[in-house]
Amino acid sequence: MTTESVAAAQVPAAPDIPGTVRRLRETFATGRTRGVEWRKQQLKALERLLVDNESAIATALEKDLGRKPFEAWLADVASTAAEARYAAKHVGKWMRRKRSFLEFNQLPGSAWVEYEPYGTVLIIGAWNFPFYLTLGPLVGAIAAGNTVVLKPSEISPASSAVMAELVPKYLDRDAIAVVEGDGAVSQELIAQGFDRVMFTGGTEIGRKIMAGAAPHLTPVTLELGGKSPVIVAADADVDVAAKRIAWTKLLNAGQVCLAPDYVLVDAAIRDELVNKIGEAIKTFAADEPKGMRIVNQRQFDRLVGYLSETKGKVVLGGQSDAAELRLQPTVVVDPDPDEPLMKDEIFGPILPVVTVQSLDDAISFVTSRPKPLAAYLFTKAKAIRERVVKEVPAGGMLVNHLVFHATSAKLPFGGVGPSGMGAYHGKYGFEEFSHRKTVMTKPTRPDLTAMIYPPYTEKAWKLARKLF
Ligand code: NAD
Repeated sequence: MTTESVAAAQVPAAPDIPGTVRRLRETFATGRTRGVEWRKQQLKALERLLVDNESAIATALEKDLGRKPFEAWLADVASTAAEARYAAKHVGKWMRRKRSFLEFNQLPGSAWVEYEPYGTVLIIGAWNFPFYLTLGPLVGAIAAGNTVVLKPSEISPASSAVMAELVPKYLDRDAIAVVEGDGAVSQELIAQGFDRVMFTGGTEIGRKIMAGAAPHLTPVTLELGGKSPVIVAADADVDVAAKRIAWTKLLNAGQVCLAPDYVLVDAAIRDELVNKIGEAIKTFAADEPKGMRIVNQRQFDRLVGYLSETKGKVVLGGQSDAAELRLQPTVVVDPDPDEPLMKDEIFGPILPVVTVQSLDDAISFVTSRPKPLAAYLFTKAKAIRERVVKEVPAGGMLVNHLVFHATSAKLPFGGVGPSGMGAYHGKYGFEEFSHRKTVMTKPTRPDLTAMIYPPYTEKAWKLARKLF
């Protein structure tokens, strides 16, 4: 082999994007993916893919993100396998026609909603839970009977490679394909004109996805981020609130779309809460004295930059290790509301705690900012809960805990406004990837419409006025 041919052999071949999409479209046109048996069989195969390869998946996640095996199993393997299992069990029921009783003036006739697969869809995954946020959306797309291109995030390359290897081994390779690559590959894919695109990532890239989809009028589902606030009212159970806030902030080093971004706490309990969050963080992060691993240099520099610019008081942590991209869990009390730490989504292990004088102050702080993916509240009072539920807009809300509202297959998960559009999980994933086609059927005889055919007589007018 010459030097050139060795080099050429080492460079992975550029994906044949138009060819891949064409192949998937041809498969969809055969009708094979519409049958309930195909859907169930693919969902079960997806569950097997995850269960059989738990250790390869854990190794990839450790390489990409330094994730511990327990968290890899819980957040990527078990969660995605459970979604696939749940969908395989229920998809037959979800697919059933939803019949409606028609109004008197629409009779005789019958009508229903037919859940129609969109066709060939594109799913662009995220790196922070690379399997859950790529193969999780795939569950809904398969349940709805589509053919699918998966584009895992290039920011978690080992996980992307595992998906590229395993998906064709377990799933129907003419119906589900993995295309690896970066943002340019995503845009080249979108330019093929898919029947639906789903993207998980940040708001700025979400805008670019929507702009790429616009010329084709491709509908988009955007699962984005934002600054999810935690309001801690004066009557809250401070002990439990502190532990739950600390734990969920530390998950994946704060690189979770639903992580508590910042806390708004009533002045009366501010010091107690800050102390207890500090104690909980010290206990939970004791095995990582050098700090938590951040995914890459760009994100690390961004987070360290927030700390160097803050006007708040750093009461815990603050140290970082640039060589290992590690940042200590850090609590900052009362930063300036206009500094970058309080403007951008943090997506790292830094927790700002902002003092407020009343619930009114907390609510107006949140509502004066873009609608978040989640809003959290700690209170014992029903009246406070009801006010916040009614007055604070957010993708989802959880009272007296964090994150768990997004882990149930029975609830829709999605953002609103800049935190996203559309929702999935369980039946909602099936619906997100299905077109609701209205179907009405009418008998031809007797032809009652004949009573109002033109020419429009006085009698026809009278009858029409009564009917409509
Ligand atoms: P990001 O928005 O920076 O996305 C990075 C990805 O965008 C890369 O994979 C890259 O390939 C792609 N990209 C770059 N330029 C592009 C372009 N012009 N066109 C198309 N794609 C392009 O986000 P991130 O750093 O990967 O993830 C962090 C963000 O994702 C946070 O805001 C977080 O809240 C959000 N997120 C949301 C959810 C959710 O379910 N709602 C889940 C995880 C992460």
